[in-house]
Amino acid sequence: MPTYDNSASVDEVRRSRAPWTTYSARLALTFAAVAAVTVIISLLLFAIVWEQRFHNYSEEQLQSFANITAETLSQRYELTGGWSEMTTRALPDISALSNGATIMVVDSAGLVRYDDYLELTGQPRDPVSSVSKAKSAAVVVGNQQVATVYVESLQEEYLSPSDINLRADSYRVLLATGVIAIMLAIVTGIVFARTLVNPFRHISSVADLVRRGNLTARTGMVGNDELSHLGQSVDEMIASIEQNAVYERQLTSDLAHELRTPLMAMQATIEAMIDGVLPADQTRLDTLNSEVIRLGRLVEAQLHLARLEQGKAVMHLENLDLSQLIQGLVESHEMLAEETKLKLVFSGDPAALVYGDADLLRQATNNLISNAERYTPPGGTIQVSVRRETRVARIVVADTGIGISEDDLSRVFLRFFRADEGRDRESGGLGVGLAVVKEIAEQHHGWVGVESELGKGSTFTIYIPLLSARKSKQKRRSKN
Ligand code: ADP
Repeated sequence: MPTYDNSASVDEVRRSRAPWTTYSARLALTFAAVAAVTVIISLLLFAIVWEQRFHNYSEEQLQSFANITAETLSQRYELTGGWSEMTTRALPDISALSNGATIMVVDSAGLVRYDDYLELTGQPRDPVSSVSKAKSAAVVVGNQQVATVYVESLQEEYLSPSDINLRADSYRVLLATGVIAIMLAIVTGIVFARTLVNPFRHISSVADLVRRGNLTARTGMVGNDELSHLGQSVDEMIASIEQNAVYERQLTSDLAHELRTPLMAMQATIEAMIDGVLPADQTRLDTLNSEVIRLGRLVEAQLHLARLEQGKAVMHLENLDLSQLIQGLVESHEMLAEETKLKLVFSGDPAALVYGDADLLRQATNNLISNAERYTPPGGTIQVSVRRETRVARIVVADTGIGISEDDLSRVFLRFFRADEGRDRESGGLGVGLAVVKEIAEQHHGWVGVESELGKGSTFTIYIPLLSARKSKQKRRSKN
């Protein structure tokens, strides 16, 4: 029997559990990692494109500086009418205005007319590497090239301070955006993980409560999303466990009750016989004996039902012609029906073939016929028929007996249910017969039904899948 510990609420259980930080942290870290990778890739791509652009820009700037210098020099050359001190006088000023570039002027005869490399760098110029790195422009006077200007950047790139600032700023902005994106990803990850994890935590807490024995706990989740469906399934599962637990307790107490009253009565009778208060005569011994037999039958029926329910009863399955099977059974009841002044009629459709256990199906129908005999007053009719439908065969037992009230109809298939205890006890009913009928039908993948009206009669039906329907189902299954 499960124990019930309602002291812990869902919230308490949830609090008592380790917070699901691991999951949130993992999700947040995953988000952050994705963001970081995205940021790094963007930074790399940006850097490649941006650096290429700056490099080209630097080259263009240096070339334009070389052109301007050559232009200025050609004007000076024209003014001074050839090479002199005055021709190259403006060059130091031009160089000072540059973004850190050296100027070398070589005339058409190959003579170096001006070079500020040594002055600006403190080192002598390496003519080979200098010329390869430098940008050049021709100094043209009239139509004649009188010299070549070589300008070389002192830095890796020829950029103005504002250009350098722009480049650094753009990297800083991009980096800041990256950091913000990563932080946002972490926060989103945590929030997302929490919203995702909370329903799981709730379901887990409810499961915990159930494990502790509180079968009234429910997730109470409603909605149409997957998690709500999970919650609803869990609730349904707990409800069915609870129902089973209630049923189990009911069953135990019912069985104890069923046994206790007759046992006490028998004990009192036997004690009275021992004390000599009652004579141990034949009639009393017969009564005691029939009560012992009844109790034996009750225990036997109970065991039989339990075996059926647990699937422990060995079933001897074979192809059966239901009409033939039930007709034989009805015939065996004819004598009794005659004695009790009941009209017993049978009709059966041909070829109602099913795959089942002949003994069990006979037993189920026998229970229905016995009930009909028991609850139909003399002069009434019991009609037993076997009908063949498209997919199922029906075994119908209809009587013109006392009927069952609407309230009781839903409970007749429950164990130990009796519409009227006093009446049935006298007539020897155990309250297990219909539970056995239902179990046997279900063991055959079928089901049972009942229609009844008080004072008019009852109709019980057992539905068993036809052999043909069973085969086509199996075929479909093996195809899939
Ligand atoms: P029992 O052994 O008491 O008949 P069952 O499980 O077979 O146990 O039936 C349960 C109860 O259902 C019966 O006690 C009776 O009240 C009601 N019942 C069953 N069959 C009929 C019937 N054909 N007519 C009226 N009542 C019936």
